[in-house]
Amino acid sequence: MPDLVRQHLIDPEICIRCETCAEMCTRDAISYDGVNVVVDFNKCTYSMDCIAPCPTGAIDNWVMVEKPYSLEQQFDWDELPADVGAEPADDEAEAMEDEVSKMLEVAHAGAGGASRRPVTSSQPRVNLYTRASPVVAEVQGNYRITDADAESDVRHIILDLGGNALPVLEGQSLGVVPPGADGQGRKHHMRLYSVCSPRDGERPNHNNIAFTVKRVVEQRDDGVFRGIASNYMCDLSRGDRIELTGPYGNTFLMPDNPEANIIMVCTGTGSAPFRAMTERRRRTMPNAPGKLLLFFGARTPGELPYFGPLMKLPDSLIQRELVFSREPGRPKEYVQDRIHKCSDQVAALLESGQTHIYVCGLKGMEEGVETALEEVCSGHGLDWRALRNVMRDEGRLHVETY
Ligand code: NAP
Repeated sequence: MPDLVRQHLIDPEICIRCETCAEMCTRDAISYDGVNVVVDFNKCTYSMDCIAPCPTGAIDNWVMVEKPYSLEQQFDWDELPADVGAEPADDEAEAMEDEVSKMLEVAHAGAGGASRRPVTSSQPRVNLYTRASPVVAEVQGNYRITDADAESDVRHIILDLGGNALPVLEGQSLGVVPPGADGQGRKHHMRLYSVCSPRDGERPNHNNIAFTVKRVVEQRDDGVFRGIASNYMCDLSRGDRIELTGPYGNTFLMPDNPEANIIMVCTGTGSAPFRAMTERRRRTMPNAPGKLLLFFGARTPGELPYFGPLMKLPDSLIQRELVFSREPGRPKEYVQDRIHKCSDQVAALLESGQTHIYVCGLKGMEEGVETALEEVCSGHGLDWRALRNVMRDEGRLHVETY
């Protein structure tokens, strides 16, 4: 794969030429020639100071290029050039794309067919790095985020990308291939992990990302050990280097619209993309009128990833509906039970054309959530089957379960 650099561009079709971005840029990287507002590649440091103040979102465009576009080229544009991300370079890359598409097809099957990306989401970049040409990141930290005495060992793993460009949106995944081979000398399978940090980095404006990984330890009856990738990830130490492929996924993306209501339903580590989406909202539009409503299930509070940080988020940003299935002395509760309990509120949100639903986590939860939504709708004069088709076609219904 050729050496690529990440270039920040402004979409001339959407830009209203208010020049707020130029005022915010402390590097003097943004200029206006009376026709287009453009970014100087040689001055831009990806500080992101210009992103949030832009009233239209025209500012938020990133491309991977071999040679950056000059100011003269950008002044000439009526529209952004077609996606110039790296093309799959060889058969291996194409085979891997197929493998990932199949994995995502299975994971997304619950939406009742292929979902679309939200109309207002940013344009995702996909397949920039392959198994043959992965991007190498360095482990910055690996922290346990379930209680020390909890049964599940869930890790928050932060990776520093150094000088490598890896544009990734909330809801996208990256591939990890554990090093080494199985007992028969075959390379290990790739595993997909959702990125749990927002697009501007785990730490704002740092070129880093984070994953949420649960250690899987399972010896199957046929003798196969499940959990090679998760154990490799959970055992990483600061300074270790790890190869990543991707990014993958072009539909499970968040709307970039402050009016959008986002209902998020997850179990366990299925919370990863929702951490990214919530953090994106918190950083860029903390006072958005659109609601964030999270249904999150775990065995106990100590087993719920990010329990502490989640409880610190302001109520004005997010409504948390945390449910626990194995809390001593309390009846078992699943996310679908809580959806029932919140049925008036859920129904009111479903009536709005601005509402998006995302479901992520255990495959088994899908059916229960589907039934709960159907019952909530029928109790409020709505037809869930018809509504889900509309929501799917409008890019407002997204399911990713494994
Ligand atoms: P888990 O700890 O096994 O389960 C979390 C909770 O879900 C428990 O309270 C469990 O209850 C409950 N549950 C079990 N069956 C359910 C059902 N039919 N309906 C509703 N709730 C149910 O979860 P996990 O191991 O973290 O699994 C998360 C899933 O997310 C995995 O399949 C993973 O592949 C997927 N995922 C992970 C990522 C990532 O980036 N790491 C991204 C996307 C998806 P009981 O066990 O008490 O019955």
